[in-house]
Formats: sequence, structure tokens, C-alpha cells
Amino acid sequence: MAAAFVDKARIAVKAGKGGNGAVAFHREKYIAAGGPDGGDGGRGGDVIVQVDEHMSTLMDFRYKRKYVAGDGGDGQGARRSGKDGQSLVIRVPKGTLLRDAETNEIIHDMSDAEPFVLCRGGRGGWGNCHFATPTRQAPRFAKAGMPGEEHDVVLELKLLADVGLVGFPNVGKSTLLSVVSKAHPKIANYHFTTLFPNLGVVFVEGGESFVMADIPGIIEGASEGAGLGHDFLRHVDRCRLLVHVVDVSGSEGRDPAADFGAINEELRQYSPALAQRPQIVVANKSDIMADEELLEQLRRRAEEEGYPLFAISAAAHQGTRELVQTIAARLQTLPPVQTYEAEYVKRAPVIDTSVLPDIRVEDGVWIVEGPWLERLIANVNFSDYESRMFFDKQLRESGLFQRMEEMGVQDGDLVRMYNLEFEYQR
Ligand code: GDP
Ligand code: MG
Repeated sequence: MAAAFVDKARIAVKAGKGGNGAVAFHREKYIAAGGPDGGDGGRGGDVIVQVDEHMSTLMDFRYKRKYVAGDGGDGQGARRSGKDGQSLVIRVPKGTLLRDAETNEIIHDMSDAEPFVLCRGGRGGWGNCHFATPTRQAPRFAKAGMPGEEHDVVLELKLLADVGLVGFPNVGKSTLLSVVSKAHPKIANYHFTTLFPNLGVVFVEGGESFVMADIPGIIEGASEGAGLGHDFLRHVDRCRLLVHVVDVSGSEGRDPAADFGAINEELRQYSPALAQRPQIVVANKSDIMADEELLEQLRRRAEEEGYPLFAISAAAHQGTRELVQTIAARLQTLPPVQTYEAEYVKRAPVIDTSVLPDIRVEDGVWIVEGPWLERLIANVNFSDYESRMFFDKQLRESGLFQRMEEMGVQDGDLVRMYNLEFEYQR
């Protein structure tokens, strides 16, 4: 059995945490008390998404679902900075939409070569070498590294092609693509041979080349979810032009005009916008046409819709060059392939300030922790006097010191808040 085509996947990505700043003091023989020389933590690695032109499915994401970039290293003494964390590059096929797994909003449309930073690594914390001031010679604190961003993301492949082939199975779509491009789609005389969409670049003599996509055949009722068709229609969603292939040979007892109408009905039910997309109608297998009248009926139907019709034989390479020229000329008049605007807006994580920081005493050290406090510390620049006063005020107003007093804290006790250490002073 053929492997199923994977065009949707859910993954969890996480950028690296920033390294912690170091608390260290310069030590040298014969020098009694050196200054602070703790280095900074390294930056956490980013998670970056990049288009890989050689990929055409999301198969790789089926079994690997977690993607984590490297953490930044901690700072060290002698002002040595921690190493930056290794960024992680996730490769996806061109035309992959990144969606927020919770809201389904589009985060980014991977439709060009530009790398996209999906999750940013956390900043490294400053070492205590930043915090020396004339009045405080020995700062016993450094800043903790910030956590990296994380995101649950749905990848959805929406192929990027100028031209989409539509039509019933077995009408010759794959044959046409193989004749006009270097693509090698599977061709066989039975229905549903195409399980994977195929993309081919069509070179145009004296014109601009374009990309043509062959998707699995649409079957009637596809837009209601029967069979393969419905899902695959999203791969022609972005196409600028549809080439609607109809078998006019009558060899399978089919009525070309009725087939043409049925496919258009499917497109309409899937998406009215797609039904409005310009079409070129290709009457294929004209080399074995039994009844000229079938072609004429189709021609009238196409004309009613305002679409040009080309009678060709893909297999015999008849009329294919003229068809390619016509498609190329038509594309010149059409707007570029549709790309999607981002809908998702990064929201700051909601922090519940009513949750009081946790206070505990370990080996005589007062340890205070909580999300609100962590956030506050991360955003205070401790080398700046005003900022330190602001920090102090925030702590007082939160009632934290009052709670500590009630628990028996004494002047001179050591207090530790993440990477911050100081002596308690009333
Ligand atoms: P698809 O399902 O629409 O992709 O159709 P295929 O390209 O796989 O073709 C189905 C069958 O029709 C194959 O046996 C082809 O060789 C045959 N075929 C395709 N084009 C022509 C044509 O122009 N003339 C004739 N006689 N047979 C064709
Ligand atoms: Mg096919």
C-alpha cells in the first residue's frame, strides 16, 4: 500500500532558556577583596522555520513532534559569558502554513525563502559584574536567564503553484504534467493513481516558467468529504489559474460536458472563491475521440462559462506546446499566488498577580519564588538606581516584606529571589 500523503501535523516547539548570570568575585593572590566579575549568561537558541524546496510533504513531522533549541550556558567568573544556545532550524515544504494550535490562527505563511523565527530564545541574565556601584562594592546578585518561548503549532501544507490541474481521475492530468515538465508523476490506467500532489516546473520558450500542480483526482461528492478529493482541494486553493482536464474520448462511457459541470459543482461547494478562479478547459484524449459531438457539447459549456477550450492529446503530445504558451500568456495577466497574512498576535503570558510568592526558609536563607516575582526581576535593570528603587517599592507594596516579618525575618538575614541575593534590611 502506498504511504499516505501527510499534509497536516501538530508539533510542540520550544526555544532555549537563557543562561544565568554569575555571582563571582575577582580573586588574586595578595589582593584581599576583588571586585565583582561574574559574567553574563548566554542567549537561548531560537527555533527557526525555513522552506526546503526539496520537500513536498510533512511526512517528517509524523513521528517527531517535539522540537527544542539549545539552552544558553551560565556565566562564569572572570567575566566569562556563557555560550549562546544552539538555534534549531525546522525545514518545511514551500507553502506550509504555521498555525496556532489553540486558535487555529495563522502565525506565518512559509511561502518564500525568508527564515522565520517561530520562538525566541530567552535572554541571558546579567552577571554581577554589571551591578557594582560606588556605594555597593560587592553586589551579591546576578540575573537569572529568561525562559525561551514555546508554542504548540499546527503545520498545514497548502502547495504553492501557479497552475492547478483539476478533473476526474484517469482523464490524463498526470500525463499532461509529465509531458510539459520534468516531473515524473505516476501514470496508470486506473483511478486514484495520484496519492501525492506533484509539482512540476514548466519551462516556457520565450516566456516565464511557471509551476503546475497535479493533485489527486477529484471525485463526485468530494466536497462533502467523500473519498480523497475534499482535503486535497486545499492544494489548488492558492493557484492563480485552474487547468480543467476533461476526457473527451468517451472511452469510459462518460459524458464530458456532464463531467465538466460536476467538477465545477465540487469546486463551488468547497469554496465559492475557488469556483471563481480563472480556468482553461483542456479536452484530452482527442486522439481516440469516438464522437466529435461530445467535444462540441463540452465546448459550448465552456463558452457559457467564458473559459477557453483546448483540444489536445497529452499522451501523443498534440497541442501541448500551444497549451503551455496560452497558459503562460494568461498568467501574465493574473495576480500573483495568494499568500496569507498573519492572524495570530503574540500575547504576553498572563500572570496572575493575586498568587502570592512562596516564602520558605532553608538553612537560614529566605527563599522567595513565584511567577510574578520572576517576571519582575527579569524586567528590572539592577545596575540602575531608579530601577532598584522601583523594585524595592514593588516588593513593599505587594506586602511581601510584611509577610516575611510575620514569619520572623531578622535584619541581616540572607534573602534569595532566584539569582538575586541580598541582606534583609527593614
Ligand atoms: P490522471 O488520473 O488524470 O492523472 O490520469 P493519468 O495521466 O494517470 O492517465 C490515465 C490513463 O490515460 C493512462 O493510461 C494514460 O496513458 C492515458 N492517457 C492520458 N492522456 C491520454 C491521451 O491523450 N490519449 C490517450 N489515448 N490516452 C491518454
Ligand atoms: Mg494522476
